[in-house]
Amino acid sequence: MSTVNLSTITKQFGDVTAVRNLDLLIEEGEFFTFLGPSGCGKTTTLRMIAGFYYPTRGKVKFNDKDMTTVPPEKRNTGMVFQNYALFPHMTVFENVAFGLKVRKVNKTDMRKRVEDVLKKVRLDSFIQRQVSQLSGGQQQRVALARALVIEPDILLLDEPLSNLDARLRDEMRTEILRLQREYGITTIYVTHDQVEALTMSDRIAVFKDGECQQMGTPTDIYNEPVNDFVAEFIGETNLSPVTFKEKQEAEFIFHSEPLESPIRVKDSKQNIAAYDEGDELLISIRPEAIHVSDTALTDQHNVWTGEVSLVQFTGASVHTFIKINEETTIRATGLNQGPSTYFEEGTTVRVHMPEDQIRVIPRA
Ligand code: ADP
Ligand code: MG
Repeated sequence: MSTVNLSTITKQFGDVTAVRNLDLLIEEGEFFTFLGPSGCGKTTTLRMIAGFYYPTRGKVKFNDKDMTTVPPEKRNTGMVFQNYALFPHMTVFENVAFGLKVRKVNKTDMRKRVEDVLKKVRLDSFIQRQVSQLSGGQQQRVALARALVIEPDILLLDEPLSNLDARLRDEMRTEILRLQREYGITTIYVTHDQVEALTMSDRIAVFKDGECQQMGTPTDIYNEPVNDFVAEFIGETNLSPVTFKEKQEAEFIFHSEPLESPIRVKDSKQNIAAYDEGDELLISIRPEAIHVSDTALTDQHNVWTGEVSLVQFTGASVHTFIKINEETTIRATGLNQGPSTYFEEGTTVRVHMPEDQIRVIPRA
């Protein structure tokens, strides 16, 4: 097991800066995820940790050992690639044993270690099967077994579930997490899928254009996004441009042109006092924090009237889109509590944004 420390890492490919000034400290045994859209530098960063690329500037350390230019085979990392990179015409045994052969492990030990790891990934009865005869999910398990059998200090997974269908993806999420906890292995997981990141990770780094936007636990990142990119990339949100007007007792008052009336915000953990009156900002509120009602709500602040323009049923939850005016449609999400609780399209409703659920963030 090992910590991973990246200090001010930059990677350039000609004119393209794939990763810029990245600082990261990943703890021993941590499940750490790089999350971001395609092309933001996730794979490049993972490859610098594996040793397939060397950084243009900066340092890679495992524990306190400088690994910046150590070749991949001397790093003791196990890697699972997006396309698995298995040998299709070899058996499961031969695929998994490959790394042990390279390391010149003797036949008896090799057999035992391959059998043990195949038990762990529940493929022991497939040991003599040719890889090309396995399903996608089974191939994924072979790739995992091959990475784990060498007893790596660090497990690196690059979008390992993206080729699987939705149900299998769900199952493998749990499976990977179970293995990670069983082995207690420091794990770095790359994905563009926010649900994977939120459900699996101890901590997440959100990437955009080669830079880390925010790092934190899934709840921190979701509840306290630092900018509009993070707020929109992880989960759904309602964003509105606002101007900071004034502070009144424990509340801050913002003016929003599209919403027309003042918006009151409580400063729960967000340090709004650091902004100046007149500053142009954004407010973000999650759809599940919004209350929709067909009664008056007269005793509340932050209430707008609108018309239900669309109702989307997803099974467990219901999304309701409420048109406040030409420029503004608000999205609200509620749990499915039976057909009598959904609004009909065209209904006039009140939308309430609780003061303590609104987040104020800078405009990009
Ligand atoms: P991600 O994994 O987040 O999709 P990558 O790390 O693969 O992103 O790529 C980041 C950027 O670096 C992209 O603009 C990509 O085109 C570029 N890039 C990645 N690998 C190479 C390479 N070997 N040569 C040139 N450009 C590359
Ligand atoms: Mg990638």
